[in-house]
Amino acid sequence: MSGDKTNKPILCRIGIHKLRRVDWEEGTPRAIYKCDRCGKQKRVMMGM
Ligand SMILES: [Zn+2]
Repeated sequence: MSGDKTNKPILCRIGIHKLRRVDWEEGTPRAIYKCDRCGKQKRVMMGM
């Protein structure tokens, strides 16, 4: 009915994503994580 595209799974809507590492950001110590459910990407500093 509405043209709403925010068709996220309920867990993602409340901020619980199923993050999985998919890549490294080139030239930085950051990893790129992506949610298996909604596709949201997140960059995480992998500092030691
Ligand atoms: Zn998600």
